[in-house]
Amino acid sequence: MTAMIEINHLKKSFGENEVLKDINVTVNKGEVLTIIGSSGSGKSTLLRCINLLEKPTSGAILYKGENVLTKNYDLPKYRTHLGMVFQSFNLFNNMNVLENCVSGQVTVLKRSKEEAKKIAIENLEKVGMGRYVSAKPAQLSGGQKQRVAIARSLSMNPDVMLFDEPTSALDPEMVGEVLLTMKALAETGLTMVIVTHEMGFARDVSDRVIFMDKGVIAEEGTPEDIFVHPKEERTKAFLARVL
Ligand code: ADP
Ligand code: MG
Repeated sequence: MTAMIEINHLKKSFGENEVLKDINVTVNKGEVLTIIGSSGSGKSTLLRCINLLEKPTSGAILYKGENVLTKNYDLPKYRTHLGMVFQSFNLFNNMNVLENCVSGQVTVLKRSKEEAKKIAIENLEKVGMGRYVSAKPAQLSGGQKQRVAIARSLSMNPDVMLFDEPTSALDPEMVGEVLLTMKALAETGLTMVIVTHEMGFARDVSDRVIFMDKGVIAEEGTPEDIFVHPKEERTKAFLARVL
């Protein structure tokens, strides 16, 4: 197994509040790692530390073996290797679907418009949104917007995709299409880190599941370990609440 991202002794505080307490995780190439846990346990903060939307208080984040927190590390370049999909889509509402998927490729990756369009269309087709290139976000359902957001992120050719509760803002009838899209991506061998409340999905697609509680990794294992044979009382209590 090749480690893509290695997180060593990561801590993050907001003022007096220590939100992440000595987190150690490795994300391996091609693996689907799911993070579950109660609201406030630090899941989003962990994802935001991985892509450095938040600066860790201490610890190391190694990307392909190099610590990205050292002074001279090329952070803008590092961020282009990570895709992030949020609960709230964050599409550009003034741009149509195709332009949403093209703009980052042109401005950040310096691709030509032609090449960027070709890549955008391939990815929109992958998420079943190929017919909507000219639509504006306002014309789309929540599920369609989220699939466009995924296509936009994929168009940057990230090494790792981070998803922070990608279906939590959706009407229940839209959840399935987004989960199916993510499942299809997982099957292509994409490296994915997914924070989710969808336990059936987590059980189905994950190679590994992490249960977070109050800023620590309380338990980690295969879906079978976590969902069928949880060892820790707090994992059992959490699952009893959500399943
Ligand atoms: P989760 O995603 O598991 O619900 P979060 O990572 O969002 O948890 O939050 C963990 C804790 O960190 C919460 O107590 C939250 O209030 C706190 N927190 C998160 N972001 C900030 C911030 N920018 N400033 C201060 N406190 C924050
Ligand atoms: Mg969160």
